[in-house]
Amino acid sequence: MNVTRVVVLGAGYAGLTAANRLAGRLGETASVTIVDPRGVFVDRIRLHELAAGADESTVVHPLPRMLNPRVRVLHAQATRIRAAERQIELADATTVAYDELVYAVGSGETVNSVPGAAEFALQAAGLDGARALRARLADRAPGAAVLVIGGGATAVELSAELATQTTAAVTIAAGSELLAGVSPAARQRARTWLTRHGVTVLDDSRVASVDQGGALTDDGRRLDADLVVWAGTFAVPTLARDSGLEVDGTGRLIVDASLRSVSDPSILGAGDACVLPEQPHLRMACATALPQGAHAADVIAASVTGGPQPQFSLGYVFLCMSLGRRDGLVQFLTRDDRPRRIVLRSGLGALVKESISRFARGSVLAERRRAGAYRWLKLGGPAVRRELVHD
Ligand SMILES: Cc1cc2nc3c(=O)[nH]c(=O)nc-3n(C[C@H](O)[C@H](O)[C@H](O)COP(=O)(O)OP(=O)(O)OC[C@H]3O[C@@H](n4cnc5c(N)ncnc54)[C@H](O)[C@@H]3O)c2cc1C
Repeated sequence: MNVTRVVVLGAGYAGLTAANRLAGRLGETASVTIVDPRGVFVDRIRLHELAAGADESTVVHPLPRMLNPRVRVLHAQATRIRAAERQIELADATTVAYDELVYAVGSGETVNSVPGAAEFALQAAGLDGARALRARLADRAPGAAVLVIGGGATAVELSAELATQTTAAVTIAAGSELLAGVSPAARQRARTWLTRHGVTVLDDSRVASVDQGGALTDDGRRLDADLVVWAGTFAVPTLARDSGLEVDGTGRLIVDASLRSVSDPSILGAGDACVLPEQPHLRMACATALPQGAHAADVIAASVTGGPQPQFSLGYVFLCMSLGRRDGLVQFLTRDDRPRRIVLRSGLGALVKESISRFARGSVLAERRRAGAYRWLKLGGPAVRRELVHD
């Protein structure tokens, strides 16, 4: 029997979903190997909770518990993809061969964003950063001034978590308007909540440099802080670029509508580390990574069984934000990711957000139990129930 060798790079939401779905779908006709330098799955959407002191067991999960037992785990870091030879070089100088490769190396902390940031700012976009932030907060005296730089959902969630779970005095500095991508009502609700919980919100405060005692804005204002946390755009690994594959300006692997790399069809992209230029509404999110991982598996399964190659389609439903543990905000979206006027907030928002956060890891586990269990809304798929979308 011809066995297709599938290698998945990255054990995040996209990689685990792809690996579980493939192992279940293809059975003995494929060998599935997942390569990741960590032996654990990091539930990244909860890293702000870890940074603010949550127990590590709520965020970090051993890989064997997340994976179909048929998936082989290789604890290794891929350092280069030799596409012409269908081989991956690993950091320990060994290589692994593949017939089909899923590139799902995700994203992490932004490096060298402004002078001093790499040296003086902490980040919570990756496990090490979140652990470091937690340790530094524990070292500081009660009431330490924490400056969170960033104006998006990650910055807001982190600020809210720090404000409610620690004694820190939090200031959030947004480059333009806080939460510019959500509806005015959602923006106002987040701002009111933050202010009520003692967070100082600074709009139009583009940070130009970071130092030991805080940061300087590009219009010359000094923002003093005991700790500075960078919570801006995520950066992706340079692996695709280093391997000579076609990438966009930020290093994301460029894929076509079936999620195959435009440089080499034996490589598929899924999650934060890839970009599908034909569908600009797609953003870096767990909500994108899970369906792309599942889709990549479906494309490979179709190749192995000789079926037609499906095209990727995803419609968004909402953007959820926690505001501490008791409150939350759910911004309903058009499928192409524009905010609707409807917003859930307070306890109901928190309940929906927590359910969605559980659903993310639960989706990976569902694929482990039954391949094909994970389904998602398509861009032009069946209508979302009316009561969910009216104003
Ligand atoms: C605090 C926080 C809150 C968030 N909240 C939300 C939210 O509410 N909703 C939402 O949709 N999104 C949220 N996100 C974004 C979400 O976490 C990411 O979009 C998602 O993790 C992307 O999934 P992924 O599978 O592409 O990559 P990741 O989850 O980043 O996983 C990538 C994996 O690849 C591995 N890897 C990296 N380099 C290599 C290599 N060279 N070789 C082998 N393996 C490698 C890494 O170790 C990692 O395990 C949040 C992010 C953060 C930080």
